[in-house]
Amino acid sequence: MEIKVLGSAAGGGFPQWNCGCPNCSAVRTGSFQGKARSQAQIAVRGDSSSWFLLGASPDLRLQIENTPELHPLPGVRQSPVAGVVLTSADLDHVLGLLLLREFQPIRVFAAESIIRILREDNSFMRMMNRVPTQVQWCPTPQRAAFELDGVGNTSSGILATQLPLGKRYPAYVSDERALQLLPEEASSGLLLEHRGKRLGYFPAVGQVDDELMKTLSKLDLLLFDGTFWDEEELSRVESSGPTAQHMGHIPVGGPQGSLERLTALDIRNKVFIHVNNTNPMLNEAGPEYRQIREAGWSVAEDGWQFTL
Ligand SMILES: [Zn+2]
Repeated sequence: MEIKVLGSAAGGGFPQWNCGCPNCSAVRTGSFQGKARSQAQIAVRGDSSSWFLLGASPDLRLQIENTPELHPLPGVRQSPVAGVVLTSADLDHVLGLLLLREFQPIRVFAAESIIRILREDNSFMRMMNRVPTQVQWCPTPQRAAFELDGVGNTSSGILATQLPLGKRYPAYVSDERALQLLPEEASSGLLLEHRGKRLGYFPAVGQVDDELMKTLSKLDLLLFDGTFWDEEELSRVESSGPTAQHMGHIPVGGPQGSLERLTALDIRNKVFIHVNNTNPMLNEAGPEYRQIREAGWSVAEDGWQFTL
């Protein structure tokens, strides 16, 4: 399985348009020891030449242009992107779908509740189905494997499993609407398995329980929620900012943080992704970056690739 990191930042990207925090300011002036990043986006490929996107970020057009493997062959109006897997209805995770509305048949795999929010509550999404052969919406089960295959059944040999992680729908979904949806379909992590190798993509994890620890212990590559370093990070740049926990993210640092909880796990490759622009571990000259490197982790950068 080939895995490409097209984007590695949390929502807003790095730098973020309205943010003058120490990280964003330094990266703009070129004095930052670390990289700018676009919003989190992964692409995977198995046995066929088709690629599958994990999420559809608002930065998707440029991310595809920056990745030659995702370009159409010269003279042909046909992208090698065959499908998209969605794990939540968050805007940072689904806005890029609208950029894929060019009448190319693709499959969108998502839990039924996510599909209902997108298709029934957002009239923009009708652009995805102007002709019957455009987007095929494929409802996915929770905790049961499904195969990533494109239109025409080009099989990737990749088995995907959605694992429920959070019960809160995005703020644009009303409380009344949320009552009509299944709480366990609100936000998931993804396990992908191909020829005995396993990738875990967990960009939004509110808490690490024993069940999750067991799941993570069997992975060859873990891409894990690196959104915030500590609980109060946002309130330091935005006085009314919510805590990390309130946003559905376990912080990386501190005694209850993911670094402490997960470091003992026997995983060959542990990588933080979905890193918010305020997170001090983006600064490669800082103590937080040193701490995660010494614990055997790395921080994903746009353009990284892995082969499992
Ligand atoms: Zn910032």
